[in-house]
Amino acid sequence: MAKKAARAAKRSATPARPAARKSTPARKAAPRKAAAPARKSAARAASSGKADKYVYSWGAGKADGNGSMKPLLGGKGANLAEMARIGLPVPAGFTISTEVCTYYYANKRTYPAALDAQIRTGIAKIEKVMGVKFGDARKFPLLVAVRSGARDSMPGMMDTILNLGLNDETVIALERATNNPRFAWDCYRRFIQMYGDVVLGVQKRAGEDHEPFETVLEHYKHETYGNGELEDNKLTADDLKNIIARFKALVKERTGKAFPTDPWKQLEGAVSAVFGSWMNDRAIVYRRKYNIPAEWGTAVNVQAMVFGNTGEESGSGVAFTRDPATGEKVFYGEFLLNAQGEDVVAGVRTPEPVAQLAAEMPKAYKELERIRKVLESHFKDMQDFEFTIQDGTVYMLQTRNGKRTGVAAVRIATEMVKERLIDWKTAVMRVPADQLDQVLAPIFDRVAVKKAEVIARGLPAGPGAASGEVYFNADRAVEAAAKGKKVLLVRVETSPEDLRGMIAAEGILTARGGVSSHAALVARQMGKVCVCGAAALQVDYHKRTLTVNGVTYKEGDWLSIDGTAGEVYAGHIETGASEVIQGLVENDAESKKGRTFKNFVQLMKWCGEATRMSVRTNADTPEQVRNALAFGAVGIGLTRTEHMFFEGDRIDAMREMILADTLAAREEALAKLLPYQREDFFGIFKELKGYPATIRFLDPPLHEFLPNTDDQQKDLARKLGISVEKIKQRVHDLHEFNPMLGFRGCRLGISYPEITAMQARAVFEAAADANKKGYKAHPEIMIPLVGFKKELDLQVEIVHEVARKVQAERKTTIKYSVGTMIEVPRGAVTADEIAQTAEFFSFGTNDLTQTTLGMSRDDSGSFLPHYEETEIVKKNPFATIDQSGVGALMRIAVEKGRQARPGIKPGIRGEHGGEPDSVKFCDALGLDYVSCSPFRVPVARLAAAQAALAAAKK
Ligand code: PEP
Ligand code: MG
Repeated sequence: MAKKAARAAKRSATPARPAARKSTPARKAAPRKAAAPARKSAARAASSGKADKYVYSWGAGKADGNGSMKPLLGGKGANLAEMARIGLPVPAGFTISTEVCTYYYANKRTYPAALDAQIRTGIAKIEKVMGVKFGDARKFPLLVAVRSGARDSMPGMMDTILNLGLNDETVIALERATNNPRFAWDCYRRFIQMYGDVVLGVQKRAGEDHEPFETVLEHYKHETYGNGELEDNKLTADDLKNIIARFKALVKERTGKAFPTDPWKQLEGAVSAVFGSWMNDRAIVYRRKYNIPAEWGTAVNVQAMVFGNTGEESGSGVAFTRDPATGEKVFYGEFLLNAQGEDVVAGVRTPEPVAQLAAEMPKAYKELERIRKVLESHFKDMQDFEFTIQDGTVYMLQTRNGKRTGVAAVRIATEMVKERLIDWKTAVMRVPADQLDQVLAPIFDRVAVKKAEVIARGLPAGPGAASGEVYFNADRAVEAAAKGKKVLLVRVETSPEDLRGMIAAEGILTARGGVSSHAALVARQMGKVCVCGAAALQVDYHKRTLTVNGVTYKEGDWLSIDGTAGEVYAGHIETGASEVIQGLVENDAESKKGRTFKNFVQLMKWCGEATRMSVRTNADTPEQVRNALAFGAVGIGLTRTEHMFFEGDRIDAMREMILADTLAAREEALAKLLPYQREDFFGIFKELKGYPATIRFLDPPLHEFLPNTDDQQKDLARKLGISVEKIKQRVHDLHEFNPMLGFRGCRLGISYPEITAMQARAVFEAAADANKKGYKAHPEIMIPLVGFKKELDLQVEIVHEVARKVQAERKTTIKYSVGTMIEVPRGAVTADEIAQTAEFFSFGTNDLTQTTLGMSRDDSGSFLPHYEETEIVKKNPFATIDQSGVGALMRIAVEKGRQARPGIKPGIRGEHGGEPDSVKFCDALGLDYVSCSPFRVPVARLAAAQAALAAAKK
């Protein structure tokens, strides 16, 4: 029984996001489709006799590209060009376009013939602007950074190489030119390490917890200083030379070849590595999660290095024009003195807040504040930017629209309207619909958290509250989560390899790293609760323990984290509803005064103004109706009446009905169910305050209501005074090989018209009661799983007859309609016939998906993940509508339905009704409303508003 109840619940619950998938070898996912444009472009070049442009330069206030060219130049390249154009201090460089990436994969990892010459011209232009030469062994040599840059940023997923151009000669030139040996050798050490890792593949092997270069570095520090944890900036030039010798030996040992010395060869290797990283495992996992098409490709940016590691007047930082966790308008970010940018992002040292710069380097800070203002007024969105200060001068290395939490997205959008930076329509478009549920995310129970003990503090990197069993390794975290455990992923610092573990975990906790570390960035984007840089934690990967203040926690022990306050608690803490839920649903006066609450309400108000479709809810109880209405639902799109039969003693009457041998016995049992149903419907009508309610009659196969185990069957036999054998026989008779295609839906009402009659009577009597009390009931009775007009005709006849009787008995008129669900393909393609009888119809896309695809909605989990991996389906079709298959049937049904009954108002009620992409598709189809579970209503409202605004723009 529990299993069945769970299944019933599952059918009404929002499907979980698709779980993390196993990695796919790059080969498998090669973007075959992408071949076409690349070939076309090559053909165009050949026929015109002129080589296509693959390289776009910028520098000295000019640029070939601009900010609108993201598809071609990637986000980073386009914005570097844009920043150069608006006069911000950007070191010169060039972008190799995404077309080259497409070409590369379409042509067995080779390049267009014209590329090499264009790269050389690009380098020459940088040399001219910067006044230095690539590979110069006598004077200050030009060193470059080589970075990826996809159309949408994919933080940490692809590769970067810095300080390229160094070798045993140019390092001496750099040392001489700067008179700073430590700096020169530090750059060289970094270059060999990065290039060795990224281009030459010297990386940790299976089972190793540390990168081999890091291990060499740590051993050296340990041998020389007795402290493996010594900060890198404490190493002397001689130390660095020794380490470089060991690094080179490591490269030789692991690859069998010496480290490459020719800067041009180094550049070639780096460019290929960056293009190659488009197909690495973690980039593929990331793209799947965020639906970034493989065919977009990445660009490669080659840019003159500026150096944050020349001394105490230098440094690197990452900053946001507003706080990306809360959305507050403060200059927010982190800065590391005497360091290169990678140190900040990698979370190797814990950086200091950017505000500290005001005291340490006031001139540079003033310049950064100026840049912050220019960026917001130019890009009109919160920016996330990287900068380097070289000997007191600020340089911009990147800017992009900053990733933010759902809470911050709502705050920034609404406040930017107040500041007149954007209009309200832009604000609605700015909040990602699938992030809105973060605003509704749980917080710790106020009472429970007061009693809990804070064991450590870190940085509040991803808001919300999470409790879970700690796991110290991503794979084990994934395994535990798959077993249904709540997991907290705890790492010293996270790296992109941890992505799967982060997806599986409730929350992420790290001992090192700041709010712009990889862990924080990714957590924020995924809406995960995250605390970073909780320095008091001592994590021992080997022993699988975490020690803090002398107390040791083992893998599997419970901890709790508050990602809004940055606190770590011992043990498990109950979580409670967010401010928005407390304000809207629980009507809590204190919560209603909160900023988050007010911003949310404002956003929903704008959504109401923008939207064309309305949003209803799938609800079976008065409480669910209350919640949904609080979120702005305008009626019930689906009441699954079978859910009402599971409660308390009702199930006994239901079972009695199923076990009855005669019509009279069945009617007797149904008569016991009638008052329950009537009461339920009355409660719903009352709560609806005049909004319509679509009530679906009995749908699941009857065996779902019968007990399975011996004990339960014996118990039932005793209660009903019948033999266990009789129950067993009925269970046996009702057994189906494929219950989802079996004796269910309207087939039940056709075989047992008395069930339909009872349900109709319950609805109408409840409506009469409600009307009498002034609650204005508008029932819409919906017959499920109709494929033939005749099925509907027979059921509608019963409903009308009962309606006539009840209205006569009660001497009242009830406003009602009768319609159906389109959930089998035959129903869709004959919608014109069905609409002759149906006064309304809506799509039951859960069933329509399973019947169209021939995939069971309950059992497809065994192969669907693999289908997603191999891109047979782009997304899980039970979560996001399969537009070209199921969607095509919906389109036919809408057209035919409207032909037969011009005013008909089609809607959707499957779980897809609360999923943003599907909601947008429904808007494009011209549906009148979507219906979804109560807590998805805000998401659906936002998606519907965004769809309407996007359509109006076209
Ligand atoms: C559907 O099939 O989409 C639907 C809403 O009905 P159920 O999920 O109850 O089968
Ligand atoms: Mg259905």
